[in-house]
Amino acid sequence: MPRLSAITPSGPATLGNYLGAIRRWAREGRPGDLYFVSDLHGMTTPYHPQRLRARSREMLALLVAAGIEPEQVFVQSDLLPQLGPLTWVLECSCSFGEAARMTQFKEKSAARELAATPVRVGLFTYPVLMAADILLQGADEVPVGDDQAQHVELARALARRFNGAYGEAFVVPEAVTPPAAARVRDLSDPSRKMDKSARDSAGVLFVMDDPDLLARKVRRAVTDGLGRLEYRPDEQPGLANLLEILAACTGQPVRAVAAGFSAYGEVKKAVTEAVIDELRPLRERMRGLLEDTTELDRIRKRGAMVATDRGAHRLATALRLAGVG
Ligand code: ATP
Ligand code: MG
Repeated sequence: MPRLSAITPSGPATLGNYLGAIRRWAREGRPGDLYFVSDLHGMTTPYHPQRLRARSREMLALLVAAGIEPEQVFVQSDLLPQLGPLTWVLECSCSFGEAARMTQFKEKSAARELAATPVRVGLFTYPVLMAADILLQGADEVPVGDDQAQHVELARALARRFNGAYGEAFVVPEAVTPPAAARVRDLSDPSRKMDKSARDSAGVLFVMDDPDLLARKVRRAVTDGLGRLEYRPDEQPGLANLLEILAACTGQPVRAVAAGFSAYGEVKKAVTEAVIDELRPLRERMRGLLEDTTELDRIRKRGAMVATDRGAHRLATALRLAGVG
């Protein structure tokens, strides 16, 4: 039952990405699972090429530094020779109306239109590329949050349609909802999730922030004037977020964590220490990998080879059945 998950290098990785996704992949991943840096998805809105390249590299280093097996990680664009033709085949199985129904496209394109910036065709077709990512690897489980469930449904529909029309080429994937993960919120606005591409990063803890900066951001975290040291996410979302971060970093239940304090300042101090302790070894391993260009390049090549080999047969079958190639 191979699983496939990805992270887009649309910004530097946050503590939310780490606690909510990457650390779980490293801890709960099974042999055969694949994790990739979706740099092609990062091209659907305006971006800087050099920055995209640098962030993809950092993200790859982070996946390995977090403890995911090096042969289970790859960078999406290294598979372009396979993903290109497969995306085309799938685009020719996908109706315009079907693609136009994607909620994420509707929301993101509406936002761009409001800001009078052009909507890229790639933003419209990227769910089909995502279907190609999934179907090429024969993944049958795709852990996703609510915002991506519709895209996995599309991959499912396209796999079924192709198999029905031309012959069995694809495993029909299924979206799986990961068990409730820490949903880390923005420290300066706890109504928002901590986002790597957030415009204002005052409340965003990045994995690569140095300890002083992490401490400053936590110190400025928004709390409340109630003075009640309890875990009450609805009434005290800022404090609850800090307690959740502390619980996730120390591996303790959140309510037990809450019981140990008598002032907000103490909570912030404990959060600062826990986050620094959690990220320190990760940052050191990541830095080591980023400095060792040969090793990181070797990991990248190997990952690309494993993923390419894994998809080669499925791509060849799909092209043959589609009557091309
Ligand atoms: P973007 O702003 O580009 O959407 P993002 O931080 O939301 O960035 P994604 O690339 O969309 O990151 O998601 C990568 C993974 O990180 C997903 O599995 C997602 O569920 C998880 N994730 C993202 N933000 C958080 C968060 N604040 N708390 C927990 N998990 C998160
Ligand atoms: Mg996101």
